[in-house]
Amino acid sequence: MVQSCAEKISIQKPIRFISEYLSLDEIFSELEHKFCLSKEKIEEIKQVIEVYPLKISRYYWNLIKSVDDPIWKQCIPNIAEIRDQVGEEDPLAEERDSPAPLITHRYPDRCLFLISDTCEMYCRFCTRKRKMGTEKLVINLEKIDVAIEYIRNHHEIRDVILSGGDALCAPINMIKYILKKLREIAHVEIIRLGSRVPCTNPQRITQELCDLLKQFHPIYINVHFEHPNEITPESIKACEMLANAGIPLGNQNVLLKGINDDPTIMGELYKGLLKMRVKPYYLFQADFVKGTNHFRTNVETGINIIHGIRGFISGLAIPHYVIDAPNGGGKIPIIPDYLKSLDEEKVILENYAGKKCEYLQVQ
Ligand SMILES: *Cc1c(COP(=O)(O)O)cnc(C)c1O
Ligand code: SF4
Repeated sequence: MVQSCAEKISIQKPIRFISEYLSLDEIFSELEHKFCLSKEKIEEIKQVIEVYPLKISRYYWNLIKSVDDPIWKQCIPNIAEIRDQVGEEDPLAEERDSPAPLITHRYPDRCLFLISDTCEMYCRFCTRKRKMGTEKLVINLEKIDVAIEYIRNHHEIRDVILSGGDALCAPINMIKYILKKLREIAHVEIIRLGSRVPCTNPQRITQELCDLLKQFHPIYINVHFEHPNEITPESIKACEMLANAGIPLGNQNVLLKGINDDPTIMGELYKGLLKMRVKPYYLFQADFVKGTNHFRTNVETGINIIHGIRGFISGLAIPHYVIDAPNGGGKIPIIPDYLKSLDEEKVILENYAGKKCEYLQVQ
């Protein structure tokens, strides 16, 4: 029998300034008056949000410079979302590979644990679009306790990845409760959190939060930046505070058509991230998710990006480019073809600049 943690902690929703998020009225008014969007376009957006909700932090909204810029495309609904006839609700079969509530356990030694049902904004390309901001993703203390019990009973799990939604959008006392419980489990060696907060509402990275997280080391955080326009004094400061708390930071991003599907933009993003102490970790090919088809590129685009930056900028700046294979196949790396031939005698390689090189095999 699992005891609910409701008795032990009181979970309060964090107190937020009203002005931290735009209301729908404010958004529609600004779209009409500031960005001069037509009545038809605004009607389209209203149709989309009947199906896929809209939420934007004021900070992120203020990064928009013009209609359809790389920030706009990430946060403003597009009619293509509901006209999308391809794509699947859950292409990664996360629900099927869920042996306990909130858990996806696919790899031998690690699991995903969804601890938050919300985010600072709803990214239009989200892989969990099917449930973001809807009643399909409901986190409660009872489920959290069952999930922790699952991890406790599975001794092979040495790495727990806290996600959501956005892991850092969970109430702070809930984050504390979960970290404390996980740290009591001897076989849990590392804990990772996935969060877009440093990018989408960086002032929520407070000293209080950093002081809390650093009590539970080794903690790793994967942040999520998509475009150089997201690198601002505020996001730099948020990452600096986390890094100063001793937390290694990685970046996971998605290859997005019309946003970052270009080696120069991606190179700028990755160099900018290194400067703010964030190591690019994964670049994901966009998943085959219903409602996001207009963001997908072909795979050659990703290969060309990696080929176009490898060797030209610091090796530290190069992420693994992966396809999260449909049906729960997991993340599979895609590497440009540097290996031209391989036999018992020698290997023929091509370097970043296109020069052929030969390496003799051991005889
Ligand atoms: C991405 C993912 C992980 C973590 O994978 P790493 O390659 O170790 O970063 C674990 N479980 C699931 C279900 C995932 O999707
Ligand atoms: S922050 Fe992450 S989980 Fe939340 S909507 Fe964006 S991509 Fe999805």
